[in-house]
Amino acid sequence: TEETEEWLQQYVDDWVAFYRKHTNDGEVASYIPELQKANPDALGIVIKGNNGITIRSGDTEDPFTLQSISKAITFAVACMERGVSYMLQQVDVEPTGEAFNSIMHLEMKQVKKPLNPFNNAGAITVTSALPGDTSDDKLEPVLKLLEDMLGNRPELNADVFKSERDSSTRNRAIGYYLLEVGFLESDLDITLETYFKQCSIDVTIDDLARIGMILANDGMDPKNGEEIIPRQIARITKVLMLTCGMYDASGKFATYVGIPAKSGVSGGILAAVPPRVRDESMPFTDGCGIGVYGPALGEEGNSVAGIRLLRHIATQWDLSIF
Ligand code: GLU
Repeated sequence: TEETEEWLQQYVDDWVAFYRKHTNDGEVASYIPELQKANPDALGIVIKGNNGITIRSGDTEDPFTLQSISKAITFAVACMERGVSYMLQQVDVEPTGEAFNSIMHLEMKQVKKPLNPFNNAGAITVTSALPGDTSDDKLEPVLKLLEDMLGNRPELNADVFKSERDSSTRNRAIGYYLLEVGFLESDLDITLETYFKQCSIDVTIDDLARIGMILANDGMDPKNGEEIIPRQIARITKVLMLTCGMYDASGKFATYVGIPAKSGVSGGILAAVPPRVRDESMPFTDGCGIGVYGPALGEEGNSVAGIRLLRHIATQWDLSIF
């Protein structure tokens, strides 16, 4: 297997070098000024297999903030704290086809709750359902779950948090609308502060690969068989990642890549590849987690080179779940 690992590494290094040129086709997010400081040429990937093999290539050390990837974590935490059926009463599980920060559906009469936990309206509603009276109390179970998965407690990026809070007119508008229609369970300011904090949690692609591996494994840590996220919650989280995880490109991503994934405006992508049995000669048939970082974003807000790199790997290694 040492040999296998070596040639897998060689392939991935070549692909990262090739797709790094594609970062020119995208742009780093600027609506949160602090995010604009990211290196637009960066591209990195970590793949962690259930079989113990880890492939790391490109810019693997750059820390970045979770941003929208946090929506997958807070949804799982809220389900663990409040129960799945309760959370599914608060927020629906339907893709919107609208921009992540759209407010449109909230105004439609037949819509009784935010359409899914991964657009901002739904995510802010989920955050409001976290237990606790302060933003730090609400964030605690989120940091705790991350600590359980990663082995260390991630830190907040204070500069991104401030930048996010100071450029939050749209999220405040969404928040006020949610308050108006009665969807929020906690004080609006505390809810928004919690939301900005969860978006500002610093991670690396090693962290994302590890989270992806646990989700791929239905919430169980392959190292010791310990259940970190209950199976049903891990499954629903993956369903949402597949149907709503990649903004308005979720359908295309499911078509061309075919794995549950969640992206964020900082350029990170969290992907979970479940075990599959079609072809034993393919690598990572026991499942794996993948973390990608590439802050140059394409039109739909996903890492442009990151998506193309994932598409290439998924095609070469037959990673699609379909
Ligand atoms: N903090 C960002 C916002 O709500 C998250 C956006 C994202 O990553 O899509 O504006």
